[in-house]
Amino acid sequence: MTRDPTAFLKSEYEELVKQALDWRLRELQGPSSPRAIVDGKEVIMLCSNNYLGLSNHPKLKQAAIDAIKSHGVGSGSVRPIAGNMDLHEELERRLAKFKGAEASLVYQTGFAANAGLIPQLVGKGDLIISDELNHGSIIDGVRLTRAERAIFKHTDVPDLGRVLDEAKKHKPAYNRILIITDGVFSMDGDIAPLDQIVKMSNPHGAMIYVDDAHGEAVLGKGGRGIVSHFNLTHRDVHVEMGTFSKAFGVVGGHISGSEYLRKFAYNKSRTWLLSGSHPPPVAAACIAAIDILETEPKHVENLWKNREYFIKSMQDFGFNTGMSETPIIPVMIGESDDAQKFSVRLFEEGVFALPIVYPMVARGQARIRVIMNSALTMEDLNSAITAFEKVGKELNII
Ligand code: PMP
Repeated sequence: MTRDPTAFLKSEYEELVKQALDWRLRELQGPSSPRAIVDGKEVIMLCSNNYLGLSNHPKLKQAAIDAIKSHGVGSGSVRPIAGNMDLHEELERRLAKFKGAEASLVYQTGFAANAGLIPQLVGKGDLIISDELNHGSIIDGVRLTRAERAIFKHTDVPDLGRVLDEAKKHKPAYNRILIITDGVFSMDGDIAPLDQIVKMSNPHGAMIYVDDAHGEAVLGKGGRGIVSHFNLTHRDVHVEMGTFSKAFGVVGGHISGSEYLRKFAYNKSRTWLLSGSHPPPVAAACIAAIDILETEPKHVENLWKNREYFIKSMQDFGFNTGMSETPIIPVMIGESDDAQKFSVRLFEEGVFALPIVYPMVARGQARIRVIMNSALTMEDLNSAITAFEKVGKELNII
């Protein structure tokens, strides 16, 4: 008998299990809400990116239902052929206005935006400079470029300056330089010093690209994101990328910037050109999410109130909450095994929060990552904090 060519599937999976690095998928049985049913148990949800509870909001649901009735469940094509619906165009106009940009373009996902656009912005003879903790979708986008690559230390502007100075000496001179950073870092909840990055890179004529997946509907005026947070414009930050899959409560990636960025991006990004466009209910629900952000500021305000209450209580109990400056709150545990145990015990106590372990973070830096939600009540928060205290003492973390 010949050798089974797929034998590696089992052996590599078993290796992950042995190292406790495998994903153990839990099943969400119903909507993503502050009290959700997961694996048959009611739990307080502390790990959803649905920051504002919009994924189950009646206005978004109604908009999706109406769009199915008027436009059907699918677009029938990629956008450049027959799948460019009025709803997609309207969503882009609304998003651009919300972001204060000349134009926006919607991609199927945030991953597709990064993987599709980054390799078109730079190529042979160019340099791309990336924060060392950037998201995996940026890393994959960077891997697809033929540009040279450099890394700067996490949020370290002087180190970025060092890389830029070295780049200046390169012969032949680089044609284009692209600096790319997450806005809010998804594992630590800290914010990129975007204003200083802009200042540092201006004399070098570099393009700036920010991935604000975790900053929009969270930071800035009314949740307009990191560019608004730092009072910058799209002349300072040339590509503001984001996603509808987190605080907006739906799915889909997007970029905002100049009109020519939009035209360039939709003519060149292969992920955009060669993949079917969003179903009408998705586009309509995203428009409804923008409506809510523009008219109901209470959601973003509650998110921050809940965040302040939770982080202060956790710190009072002696938990280390790392570098968090946003509703992403890492509760530092240390070893991967302990973080896994912590999460399982929290679940038994009725709290759903996931461990983040190596290789997503460095060894010894395993954590429980809490993602705060505007719809959690004071009672929910107090129950969650009590569970953290109980498990923290049990496992000698506090
Ligand atoms: N960038 C960052 C920083 C993210 O956290 C994510 C989602 N994990 C993405 C991009 C990808 O977004 P999407 O879910 O829309 O593909």
